[in-house]
This record gives sequence, C-alpha cells and structure tokens, in this order.
Amino acid sequence: MRIGNILGIVLFVCTPYLNAQQDSEQFIEPCGHSAVIEHLENKYPGFKNSYDRQYIQTIKSGQTIQKRKKQIKDTTYTYDSVFVVQVVFHVLYSNNNENVEDSLVFNQIEVLNEDFRKRNADTVNIRQIFKSRAGDTRIKFVLAEKDPNGNPTNGINRVPTTVTSWGTSSGVNNNMKYTSRGGSDAWDPKKYINVWVCDLTLNGQDRVLGFAYPPFGHPFWQSNVFVDDPEQGVVIHYKCIGKNNPRANTSVLLASNKGRVATHEFGHYFGLRHIWADDQFMANRCLLDDYIDDTPLQGTGSNFTCQKTRNTCTQANDEPDMVENYMDYSTHECQTMFTRGQTSVMYDALKTYRRDLITESEVEVTARIIDTIIYDKVLVFPRADESVVIVELPNDVVESGVNFSIYNSVGQLVLKQQPLTVNETRFDSRRFAPGHYIGVLKDNNGELKKTVRFIID
Ligand SMILES: [Zn+2]
Repeated sequence: MRIGNILGIVLFVCTPYLNAQQDSEQFIEPCGHSAVIEHLENKYPGFKNSYDRQYIQTIKSGQTIQKRKKQIKDTTYTYDSVFVVQVVFHVLYSNNNENVEDSLVFNQIEVLNEDFRKRNADTVNIRQIFKSRAGDTRIKFVLAEKDPNGNPTNGINRVPTTVTSWGTSSGVNNNMKYTSRGGSDAWDPKKYINVWVCDLTLNGQDRVLGFAYPPFGHPFWQSNVFVDDPEQGVVIHYKCIGKNNPRANTSVLLASNKGRVATHEFGHYFGLRHIWADDQFMANRCLLDDYIDDTPLQGTGSNFTCQKTRNTCTQANDEPDMVENYMDYSTHECQTMFTRGQTSVMYDALKTYRRDLITESEVEVTARIIDTIIYDKVLVFPRADESVVIVELPNDVVESGVNFSIYNSVGQLVLKQQPLTVNETRFDSRRFAPGHYIGVLKDNNGELKKTVRFIID
C-alpha cells in the first residue's frame, strides 16, 4: 500500500467508542489498546510522542519501509517448524460467575490454535480478493502442564479475590497481575504466556474486553521505554473468554463471542498493531499504516460491524477495508484471518523477542504422504562409531528425486536441502552438536514425504 506524508502528532486518548449500540453498551471498547498506551504514557512521560514519532519517521523513510516490506515477503513461510508455547490462565474471581468453567478455557485454546494456524472453518467466508493472503503463524498453544515449581497443573490457576472489578476510568490497570493487590503474580513471563481472566467492568458496565502489551524491543513500537516485566501478558474480560460464553448477554458481547478477543490480543502480544494503525485521532486517518504490506490501508476500526462494502481510504489502487482481519474491530462473525504478512511478523516476534517461550518445535507433517510403501523403505540413522548420519533409499525414490534437510530441536535448519542421488548418502555427524534432530525428506516439488527423528550423542 502507499503511504502518504505524515503530519502532526498522534494522540492515543482513551476515548471510548460512541454509538456502538443505541443502548447502555455504548462505552465499550473491543480492546484496551489506546488505554495501554495511556498507561505507558503515565509510566514513562513522553512515551506517546516518541512512540509514533519513531514509527512515523520510519515510514517517512521510504527506503526503510520498503526494505522492511521486502523482508516480510522474503521471510514468509521459509520455515517448516511449528513452535509450541505454553499458556497459563489466571482466573480471578470474587463470585461464582467470574469463576469461569474449565470448558471455556479449553475451547479458548482451541480457538487460538485454529485462528493462529488458519484452521478455522470460517476461512471460507474470506472474500476472494483476500483469500490467498490468509496466513498460518505456525505457532501452537498448549496449556501449561507444570507450574513454575515443577508441580503438575492443568494450566488454569484459579485465584479467589475480594476485588470485585478491575475496570478503571482510564481503561486499564495492571493490578490483576500482582498477588499483593488482590490479583495473581505472573508465572515467569519469559516461559509462559500469562492470561488473566477477570472482571473488567467499571461501575457495572462492560468497558474493555481485553488488552495486551507488545514485545519489548519490537520495531513496530517505540521500544526503549518498555520493560520486560511481570505485566507482560494478556488480560481478557471474563465474559469474553472462550467461545459461546454464556455470560455474553448484550448485543456487543454477543458479537464478540467466538473467542477472538484473545486472538486479537495475542496478535498485539506478538507485536501487531491494529489494521488501521491507531490513527483514530488524526485529521487524515489514511496517512498511517499498520506496517504490514499485505493489509489494505484503513482509516478507522470497524466498530462491532461487519460491512464488507466498507472502505475508509480511497487512495489510488486502494482496496476495501479488510474487515475479515483479527486486528480490526469488526464482529467475531466477520473476523476470519491474519494475513501472511502479519503471521510472518508474529512468527519472527516469537523467535526474536519471546524466544524463551518456545518449549518445543515440531516439523509438521502437513503434506500428504503419497506413497507410504516406497517411503517406508527410506532409512535414516546415525552411526556413532563412524560419526555419520546415513540415509538409505530404494532405487525408485532416488529416481523420483528427493532432498534431505536436518533441523535441530529448536527448529533451526542445520543441513539445508541436499539432493540425494544415490542409494546411500552419508553425512558427517561431527558437524552437529549432541542432541535431538529431525530429518526431513521432500520431493523435487517441495512436498514433504517423510520425517525422521534421531539423536546424535
Ligand atoms: Zn487491539
């Protein structure tokens, strides 16, 4: 998309949306993002100014953004690995209704895995113009199985509290993240994604449905004021956790009842900005970009609507607003995709800024194994006495063409696609550190044929 000149200073003021509905729901924000910015401004005076000044300067420097866009394109889908990260839900409750059922947490994890892996059934609803852009983050979420002390857990930490509401007039606070303030201390935020599920109402009104902080040091954000502190994590209003939460009892909450408040907030947690780049308060809202090259320019968020004719910017070659995007404020019914550009940014954010979260990486077998019989005859094995890894192939596999790669246990490519042209190929295993490895065989079309796990002692 094209970026115009940037004028003025961007202000993120916690101004609640108006006219979302014609009733008492009118002060609800789908996400407390602007309030997060306010919170950081209070913590680090001057933050707001520098935050977007850096962003604007980067955009102004055409070379920089073009380079970045190229990088995004180049890094999309160059990895086979799926990274596994563990999540803990702190359920804070002052009454039984806030003590949400296990089933909602379980289906929340399912929704996250569907949405982040592009496995949600409603991708069929994506308009044709955007369909090919839908992406898979290759990030998988699991509920924590051990707490920080090594004790077994189901990933749900239930904490009774005397605090009846965590809402504030400024939109967000972080008291729920501290045991000393009636909340629950984060589990090591480098190792777990902490999700606090709590009552975010203010004076009995639903106000903010969730909020999250971006990673420390992420280039989409002015970084030097961020702290990698116990406040990292995601907060979700208890009425919006999971899919089909029975507590969603207003029209706005019903429009936000497919578990995608968490999808959106996890997007922020992995560095994404809103699709309209949060330029709500600029005179020309189409001057700021979300920094993602495959999202259309968008002026404002869709406020609990699903209008596929919506188009808030009209630059040359402009496309309609991508109301399908999880980083818009459209209804959950409408939201069906991250773009490939967004998924690439999130994948890189995990690898770069939240790397310690990765508990495991899997080389995923998504491709169809066409001829199991033939490929079952393929043998991959290390031979310690000769310091080699041997790959043995039958003639017909050699003739059909096959390549071999090796990944280490954190998903790094340590042996790049080697064509196998003879029945037995030997690789010197002394070049690999002791550990677990995964051998991957692909045919000449890049189709995955077989994976083999092995250990080098
Ligand atoms: Zn948001």
